[in-house]
Amino acid sequence: ALILGLESSCDDSAAALVTSDRQILAQAIVGQNEAHRPFGGVVPEIAARAHVEILPGLIRQVLAEADVSISEVDAIAATAGPGLIGGVMVALLAGKGLSLSSGKPLVAVNHLEGHALSPRLVDPDLQFPYLLLLASGGHCQLLEVRGVGDYSRLATTIDDAAGEAFDKAAKLLGLPYPGGPAIEELAKDGDPQAVPLPRPLVGSGEPHFSFAGLKSAVQRAVAAGTYKPADIAASFQQAVVDCMVDRTSVALEKSDAPTLVVAGGVAANRALRSALAELASANGRRFRVPPAWLCTDNAAMIAWAGAERFAAGKCDGLDAPARARWPLDEAAEKVRGAGV
Ligand code: ATP
Ligand code: FE
Repeated sequence: ALILGLESSCDDSAAALVTSDRQILAQAIVGQNEAHRPFGGVVPEIAARAHVEILPGLIRQVLAEADVSISEVDAIAATAGPGLIGGVMVALLAGKGLSLSSGKPLVAVNHLEGHALSPRLVDPDLQFPYLLLLASGGHCQLLEVRGVGDYSRLATTIDDAAGEAFDKAAKLLGLPYPGGPAIEELAKDGDPQAVPLPRPLVGSGEPHFSFAGLKSAVQRAVAAGTYKPADIAASFQQAVVDCMVDRTSVALEKSDAPTLVVAGGVAANRALRSALAELASANGRRFRVPPAWLCTDNAAMIAWAGAERFAAGKCDGLDAPARARWPLDEAAEKVRGAGV
């Protein structure tokens, strides 16, 4: 099957054409870093308006590049949440319009499912179940991925997301948004042991995350004025990696999934990737991480999640809602009655 994927849930507008046998026929992405940079973070209203201007051109572009018409597409997959609601509505309504005019089914994709299934787009051998560390701008969770639409959450963050922590630390260091790549770059010249920083929740029995205290410690280190920015960046990155490794090791004790996977924007971080690869091998698990371009937001992962859902007969009506909040393990959450 041939799937058109659309994404606009944060500050990247993206479209992609992906087949169910894992060919990426075309993809296009336009970020808005410059537009938001003066504000040090994503401004929802600016993002939504920019998606309206950018996304239609990207849809035309991928169809032209792949030399297919919308009538040759089998389904239209659009992110329906979670994310900034004004932005989410742009791709979802574009998808609904295309679905209505072409008669092709709509798949309303959970952006987190896009991240969660992304490693399967590039690895035909990655079978369910796998233990997933989902580390992105808005989330930091450990999930057992048992199948398409079948997720069981072992842990989440009690305050900031991992990417959010990178973005806040970067801001404190005067680095541009998004902070993750900027910190990783600066950290290359720094000593990861130079600045003593806390490792929140390390050693605790449940694999939850916490990054707010780490951010405050970075704030104090910057204010002290005695540390080199590169040393603060390197020490911060090391602290985040140490927390992730410790928390994931606890989750590995609770899951016998044969493979550890990390996905989401923070999974682009090389220090994190190599530390988790080591952890997996020490625990006798295989390790998988998508290429960096597939970790950060893109439409290929949305098209792929759409392909997986379409194959499972999971399509949606034109009344599919746009959702700011949409937990991946929603069914399970209802049973358990919310909580962290
Ligand atoms: P969510 O997926 O939770 O809705 P999002 O879509 O905004 O949030 P992603 O695009 O998946 O998030 O990831 C973006 C985040 O990843 C940003 O916080 C960014 O700083 C972080 N990030 C990107 N590259 C790196 C890197 N090399 N090292 C660390 N963090 C990174
Ligand atoms: Fe994302």
